[in-house]
Order: sequence, then C-alpha cells, then structure tokens
Amino acid sequence: MAEYKFYEQVNKNFDKAAKYTRFDQGLLNQIKVCNTIYHVTFPIRRDDGRIEVIEGWRVEHSHHKTPTKGGIRYSHKVDEDETMALAALMSYKCAIVDVPFGGAKGGVKISTRQYSETEIERITRRYTYELIKKGFIGPGVDVPAPDYGTGAREMGWILDTYRQMHDDLNAEASVTGKPIQQGGIRGRTEATGRGVYFGIREACAVKEDMDELGLDVGVEGKTFVVQGLGNVGYHASLYMIEAGAKLVGIAEIEGGIYDPEGIDLKGIVEYRKETGSIIGFGNTKELASNKDALELDCDILIPAALESQITGDNAANIKAKIIAEAANGPTTADAHDILKDRGALILPDSYLNAGGVVVSYFEWLKNIQHVRYGRINKRFDESSLKKILKEIENVSGKKFTEKEMENLSHGAEEYDLVDSGLEETMINAYQQISEIRNEHGLNDLRTAAFINAINKIGIMYEQMGIFP
Ligand code: NAD
Repeated sequence: MAEYKFYEQVNKNFDKAAKYTRFDQGLLNQIKVCNTIYHVTFPIRRDDGRIEVIEGWRVEHSHHKTPTKGGIRYSHKVDEDETMALAALMSYKCAIVDVPFGGAKGGVKISTRQYSETEIERITRRYTYELIKKGFIGPGVDVPAPDYGTGAREMGWILDTYRQMHDDLNAEASVTGKPIQQGGIRGRTEATGRGVYFGIREACAVKEDMDELGLDVGVEGKTFVVQGLGNVGYHASLYMIEAGAKLVGIAEIEGGIYDPEGIDLKGIVEYRKETGSIIGFGNTKELASNKDALELDCDILIPAALESQITGDNAANIKAKIIAEAANGPTTADAHDILKDRGALILPDSYLNAGGVVVSYFEWLKNIQHVRYGRINKRFDESSLKKILKEIENVSGKKFTEKEMENLSHGAEEYDLVDSGLEETMINAYQQISEIRNEHGLNDLRTAAFINAINKIGIMYEQMGIFP
C-alpha cells in the first residue's frame, strides 16, 4: 500500500480537519507551511582524530506565537521531512494544550550508539553554536527540549554553550528539560509519560466510549503493550501499572516479549541494563520479531518509539481496542483509517504526548521568573492550614496526631504544583477535544484535536491583520 511521507501525513490529517473550520484556503495554507527551515552541515573531530561531517536541521513551523518550541532528536533516521513534520505537530500540540508557543523541531542525523560521550558533547555544542549564529535559539526566539535520543545531559550542554555566547539574564530559558541544578524543573523527565497516563485515564473514564469498545470504565484491570521502553514508554508504563493496569508485552529494538500474567517493569529495566536486551526476562516468551508485539492481544497499545510503526501493512492485525499514541506520528494516515473502520479508539499524539511541552512551558516560566515554584508560598500555606486544623480541633474536640497534622498541612512543593498543572491541562484539553468531536458528530479524536488547533492558530493569524 502506498504510504505518504511523514510531513504529508500530518498535512493529510490537517486537511481532513480544516473542512470543519471557517477559514479560507489562503489562511489554512499559512498555518500549514513551515515558516523557516535551517539545514546545516558542520565538522566534528572524532576521538581518533578523524574529521567527520555532521548534518542537522532546525525547523520553526509557526511564528504565530513566539518563542517557538520543540525537541531535538538524535537519530540516523533524521531528515528534513521528519523534522518538518515534527515541527508542524508541535504547533498543533501547543495549541491543543494552550501552551503559548509556536512549533519547532530540531534534529541531528547521528546514531548515538556510534559516538562516545565526548563526541556527542562536541556535536551538541557545535550544533548549538550553529543555531546561535543564525538566530535559531533564545528565550524569546526558539527554545529546544529533549526528544528521541537526547535528554537532560544534552540540554545542559546546550545551555552552557548558549551562556558562553550570550550575556543574557534570561539565558536559562533558552532551553528546557535541563538538569535541576541548571534551572530545570522537577517533574520534566517523567512529564510526557505522566501526561500519556492522564490522557488514557481521561479516555477510559468515558462510559459511552468504553461501552462501544466493550471495555469497563477505568484504567484498572486493563492490559497493555508498550513499544519502546525509553523515557516516554517507561514512564507511561509506570503510571499505568500504578493505576492497576497490566503490562503484557514489550517491543524494543532487539525484539519483542509477551507474558499474559504481567511483566515486572522495574525488573525488566534492570535486566536490560545488565544484559543489554529484554529477551529472556522472567517467564516472558520471545516473539518472532519486535513488530509482532504490536499485534498482541491487549486492551491498550502504547507505541512510544518512533513514527510510522502502524502502517497499511500491519494495521488490520492490531487487536488493541485503544491506540494511545505516546510517540509522534506512530500511525500512518492509511493505518488510521483501517483502525477506525474496525472501531478502535485512537488517542492522538498531538494531544496525548503533550505533557512534555506543558512542563517545558512551566520550566520556561520558572526560568524567566527566576524563582522556584512553591518557594514563596509553601510555608505560608502550611501555617494557614495549621491554623484551620487547630480551629477544627477546638470546635470538634478531635485531636489530630502529629502525623495527621503534618500530612494535612503539607504546603505544595515544586513537583506537586507541576504535576497538578499537568493533570489539569490534560483533563481540560481532553474535554475540549471531546466536545468538538460531539459537536461535529465525529467519531475521531485526531480530527477533533486538529480542528481545535486550527481554530486557535487561525484566530491568531486573523488578528495579525495580514489579510486586509
Ligand atoms: P528515547 O530515546 O528515550 O526512547 C525510545 C525507545 O524506543 C528506545 O529505548 C529505543 O531503543 C526504542 N526503539 C527504537 N526503535 C524501536 C523499534 N523499532 N521497536 C521498539 N523499540 C524501539 O525517546 P523518547 O524521548 O522516549 O521518545 C519516544 C517518542 O516519544 C518519540 O516519538 C518522541 O518524538 C516522542 N516524544 C517524546 C517526548 C519527550 O519528552 N521525550 C515528548 C513528546 C513526544
């Protein structure tokens, strides 16, 4: 079956939704295009002295709001098409969860396994230098974050490089997903996976949808399979299990495994660290290939690796009733239609994995405010709560134990506030999408999410007065 390239896939979904909006084609075209595309090549010196040419991109998809925001991906599969698609998804994602940024994405075409830590540091610093030279990074311009193949370590190098070249009071806000000591925020590492869990929980709470799928309401008792046990896949699985769901299958690069009795998540992560593979863990059975894991019997499939994993070729074999898109673009447009035809509920990437950018937004706010969340009010809240509890004791005659007093008067720390802000955002965004789906009589949350994004971005462009 013919498959579209990734950016075309995103635009196909956009066009489907655009029909339900009031904007004319010119404005829709402006929303769709990538505003700026920077393709760079630069040399780095390998540890053995050889010089190697590295290729990278930064795409700012939409300047309707600034700064633009989006992760940086390190993978040998990175190319311009992928970076454009991911940048476009970022614009829609930010709009869906009401984060006031335009979308962007960066990528460096390297296989991280083939480079030492010092080589990755040199690549990261040189890539950052190239972004700085062309004005593709800055607290009010374009703010990168981690994505596939990068994490807090790389973000720390980016900040340090930016700082060396900019005497900027707000330098810390030039990149998010940093280590805490460098202005990062508690809760960012797990944010995307945590958001994935909140999104699944919201979907599983809708009785009519669960009835249609023949499933019980709630996450508890549901079985799930995860593809990719990296940052997003691991954390999403962690919170799913905490809520009572059962992990019955895993796909990783080296293969796929299955155990209907449930797989011990922390155990398998330790085992993989020791042996370099998930194969052979506990009572799990090895599957013929990692792609077979996608076709396992389960209630929820969580693709959390890369794009184009569920395609026209395997969609008809997928048995999961809920497809929870933790990765960006895991389902091609053709596969989407096949899954919908057999009644699956698809929780779209543009909504479901937005937790990362939501908490990145909180980190950026923290950096430009130069104060940690909770620092000013924590103690004040605690003493106010203690006064109320004392008053309750006086009126009721009940005496709280020291432990009860401590628990009930606990003032919010940074992590508590971040987590609560993330939960609130994921709930609100789900409600918005759900309402749009019902309003238009759609049976498709992806189209509803796109309609929501197009409406919000379209209004911004109208207000810019560029269409006399
Ligand atoms: P990661 O590098 O931490 O983990 C990805 C994992 O997928 C790795 O363990 C890798 O070995 C595995 N993998 C790769 N190819 C695979 C295959 N064919 N089959 C099975 N496993 C495979 O990356 P991540 O940050 O967890 O990102 C995963 C996805 O989530 C990407 O699509 C990314 O764009 C998206 N995402 C990430 C964030 C974030 O905050 N990190 C935010 C939003 C979206």
